[in-house]
Amino acid sequence: MSLSDSHHHYRKPISRRRCDPCGVLCFLLTYGIVSYSDYAFIYWVSWNPTPSFLSLVNGAIYQILIVLLVCSHLRASFSDPGVVLRPQHNLDFSHEALLSDRESFTSEFSRSSSSNDIRWSVCNKCETYRPPQAHHCSVCQRCIRKMDHHCPWINNCVGELNQRYFLQFLLYVAILSFYTIISILFEVSTNRIVNQTKSLHTLILLIESLLFGIFVIAVMADQMSTIFNGLTPIDKLRSVSNKSGSPSKPKKARLREVCGTNSMLLWLIPCRDNSDKRHRQLVV
Ligand SMILES: [Zn+2]
Ligand SMILES: [Zn+2]
Repeated sequence: MSLSDSHHHYRKPISRRRCDPCGVLCFLLTYGIVSYSDYAFIYWVSWNPTPSFLSLVNGAIYQILIVLLVCSHLRASFSDPGVVLRPQHNLDFSHEALLSDRESFTSEFSRSSSSNDIRWSVCNKCETYRPPQAHHCSVCQRCIRKMDHHCPWINNCVGELNQRYFLQFLLYVAILSFYTIISILFEVSTNRIVNQTKSLHTLILLIESLLFGIFVIAVMADQMSTIFNGLTPIDKLRSVSNKSGSPSKPKKARLREVCGTNSMLLWLIPCRDNSDKRHRQLVV
């Protein structure tokens, strides 16, 4: 079945994630925090009391990191996490219908993954016939392939197709936090904290960087362990064995599956990995 033939068999998934109040609040809060940090760092930490060439360089580096953070956040938030599309005849549970669903799903989506696992199941909440490692998200009310978790900070699920952007977002938060802490230490050591307003903004930035820095490093460590094990957190909770699933792969191959088949340098750039067919197949 060709791709163009198979597309019209699928219903567009209904997205309800944007109605989640907690997700919308966290999404807006993220931009509030990013905007404040940008202002406090550029104006108070870097420029105050007297701007120098170093302040300019410092500000430029910070601004580039902010742009990368925002791009990766927007991509993670608005990309398709890997919604399992619902075939028109999904509610038809006859043997022929299920078999035909599986064939079309397998030809469309699973070719890129080396898993030949046949443990397909029907979701008892949205009644979608779904591939292994797909799980139902109660916030989005849809099944997501290789669902990691629903993240309110991006107001979206983290799944097979957007995990790479989510990791980039975490990485840029970690780098920005580290960069801010180093810059603050430099300001303190060169006695540039000369007024009360600057010390107040510096203190807020320091606390914020420490909190978010530690938080994202913990989440990143967790994400890495998930990727290297090849099991989603839900599978891990259910103690699903990986032995019968995908064969054991080297860590780099597993990372490549998530971050894309491009060169490792491109893994850091929040752009679409065009070499990966999955993205073209699943534009929602
Ligand atoms: Zn479901
Ligand atoms: Zn979700």
